[in-house]
Amino acid sequence: MVTSISEVNGHYTVFTGNQFAAELLRDTYGIKLKNALILSDGGEAVTIDFKFDESAKPSIIVPKQKNAEVRLPEKSSLFVSTMPLNDDYTFDEFVTGPSNSWAHAAAKGAAKEPGKKGFNPLFIHGGTGLGKTHIMQAIGNEIKKNNPKASVCYLTAERFLNEYVNALTSSSIQQFRERYRKIDVLLVDDIQFMSRGKDFQEEFFNTFNSLHNDGKQIVMTSDVAPKDLPGIEPRLISRFEWGMVQEIEQPSYETRLAILKKKSEVMDPPVSEDSLKFIAQNIKSHVRAMEGALGKVNVMMRLDRTIKLSDEILSHLLKDFIEKEKKQKKVTIEEIQSSVASKYSVSVQQILSSERTASFVTPRQLAMYIARKYTTKSLPEIAKEFEKTHATILHGVKSIAKRLDVEPELKENLISVISDFGLTIEDRIG
Ligand code: ADP
Ligand code: MG
Repeated sequence: MVTSISEVNGHYTVFTGNQFAAELLRDTYGIKLKNALILSDGGEAVTIDFKFDESAKPSIIVPKQKNAEVRLPEKSSLFVSTMPLNDDYTFDEFVTGPSNSWAHAAAKGAAKEPGKKGFNPLFIHGGTGLGKTHIMQAIGNEIKKNNPKASVCYLTAERFLNEYVNALTSSSIQQFRERYRKIDVLLVDDIQFMSRGKDFQEEFFNTFNSLHNDGKQIVMTSDVAPKDLPGIEPRLISRFEWGMVQEIEQPSYETRLAILKKKSEVMDPPVSEDSLKFIAQNIKSHVRAMEGALGKVNVMMRLDRTIKLSDEILSHLLKDFIEKEKKQKKVTIEEIQSSVASKYSVSVQQILSSERTASFVTPRQLAMYIARKYTTKSLPEIAKEFEKTHATILHGVKSIAKRLDVEPELKENLISVISDFGLTIEDRIG
């Protein structure tokens, strides 16, 4: 009745030998199968579809699509919650240049010999949209390719924390422990979110030690280096530094152009070299924004295949991307400090001081937040201009981020300051 099963990014398709079988299976087993897949495979994003496959010869079981694999849960991976890996996030699709070549080499090393000393744990850090998730998932995809039986678990730290809280509330912490200590490769994305849970850090510490002792590969990413992670216990930080720490920096013009070329290879109609150069010249801070701009150009070209995209037309088409980039570049930290100071009727000296009075702390931290989230300045630059350590800046940023959700007045003040710089709340980076 079933001729093949395919799975792409958590979307399962069961192909059947006739239409009746597809409907029967859908009605009888659809929901049950979906629930079973969610439990065994993790992601809530699992979907399942039943289709009559006219091309299939009955009773031959073959994956239907090129990238598809029949993924029946391995015993060891049973019940481990993992988020799906993106098939496109491979080493082949990752363009290297001076900004990321060390991180890339380290990731390749970890993927080739998972658990090898020197690469374990591997810690990759860098700004938003610079390819950390891509390279981390490339490790997972590569290990899976070389060894389909390996149980690779990819999670964001936030999701991991939620799993932990769920396990606590459903009194299944013992199962939680057992399951995460049995996997072969643990990929934890955006580890900075771990600062939210003290108990979870204790739990992660033990999981980390157990996996590391067993020679299992651990990879983590974060927006800052381990030593600059605020709110994370020193003993965890020192473990994060045990293996290899690599940074991904902003790509150079050549690398940006190479990335755009790679991303545009699959586009139809092809995007001209001049258009790619225009994007690489004008959008510098995030690969994700570059991709957005390229996508926009591509849509335009599909609407009018004969269009000649001059720099003038491109400037107009990509106005939003370019303006955002320009504004974020233009505003200086000094301007932010003085604008926030006047909003709160304090002096810039008081903002720069270390006095802990609430009436100085809020504007001080708000200014830090704006510098970090609404400009393209690096953490060291911001720290220098505030005369503070990296950790103090990050602590301030985090504290404001939390308060913004619950203090409308603070949010109003933020909007008021950034709108003077021509920015809106959505222009936030990361
Ligand atoms: P991060 O996790 O650092 O915020 P992502 O890994 O999500 O960034 O990357 C954002 C986008 O940019 C993704 O679509 C990714 O494929 C792309 N990207 C980033 N760096 C590269 C690179 N060096 N080569 C190819 N694509 C890249
Ligand atoms: Mg990411």
